[in-house]
Amino acid sequence: MKRVFLIGYPVKHSLSPAMQNAAFRALNLDWEYGLLETPRDQLGEVVARIRLDDCTGANVTVPHKEAVMPYLDDIADHARHVGAVNTIIKRDGKLIGDNTDVYGIVQTLTQALVKMRGARVAILGAGGAAHAAAFALAESGAAHIVIVNRTHTRAAMLAERVRGEFPRVTVTANETESLARAQIIINATPVGMTPREGESPMTYAFPRHAVAFDLVYRPLQTRFLREAELAGARAIGGLGMLVHQGVEAFKLWTGYRVPDQIMLDAAMAELERARELKRGASEVRHVAILDSR
Ligand code: NAP
Repeated sequence: MKRVFLIGYPVKHSLSPAMQNAAFRALNLDWEYGLLETPRDQLGEVVARIRLDDCTGANVTVPHKEAVMPYLDDIADHARHVGAVNTIIKRDGKLIGDNTDVYGIVQTLTQALVKMRGARVAILGAGGAAHAAAFALAESGAAHIVIVNRTHTRAAMLAERVRGEFPRVTVTANETESLARAQIIINATPVGMTPREGESPMTYAFPRHAVAFDLVYRPLQTRFLREAELAGARAIGGLGMLVHQGVEAFKLWTGYRVPDQIMLDAAMAELERARELKRGASEVRHVAILDSR
């Protein structure tokens, strides 16, 4: 059996094992996707585990997407430009870092028929996902990108990095007036994610006719997306991106393209299972409260 792992911390609620294992089964591959919960000080040991013969690659998630790079033998151009690795592939015994988040973002917007060429884009956040979003949109021909982030210096650094790679794109940092004219607004922060579902990173009114793309997928319908729809904007959730980046990673490891629907169905089933477990847990608590009266 060949193995692929997810390296991150925490990873126990990840949808990736359900998605990737469903894809291995669908293609009759004797492969297994498992979790490696990895605190920062164990990253070196965990990468050494990936080098063993039974393992053919890995995914990398928060907080290790940048930190993992020095442990690898080579970095694909794509990942080097973005400055983050979310997929590791083993080729001739060497570990190569790549990034499929950029593909996930472009594919989601392309399938939704969103016009990226010439677009005015606002990206909320300046972390790993924001890097992928900025490079995806710049590569797809966006005309203007504004990065809006809580920590100004990080927004400025990302803007400078994108300007360096794509000199013809106008990239600014924290110029919030641009939000009112943005045609695509991307939430690349975790704000609004379960359990903080009442929050939204968008503190300005959504422009009508804009596209609001939330990279968060738990819950599927975030406050960011609800408010965008109320303002007349179009809402796109993060589950599509998760599926597309997963399909691309699967192709890099196995050489096969699995239909998107297989991973989407597996992700939806896993979300439903988690909802049932949560409902069950709250019922148990409820019963306990009744019993104690
Ligand atoms: P990250 O590297 O930790 O970056 C998080 C960013 O969000 C930082 O810019 C941070 O600002 C900002 N932020 C965090 N908490 C905030 C708060 N309370 N208020 C305002 N800003 C805040 O994380 P990431 O990897 O970029 O992930 C960001 C989100 O994208 C996560 O929800 C993740 O699940 C999602 N994501 C989804 C997919 C998908 O496939 N759909 C893929 C990747 C990521 P500072 O710089 O000020 O700290």
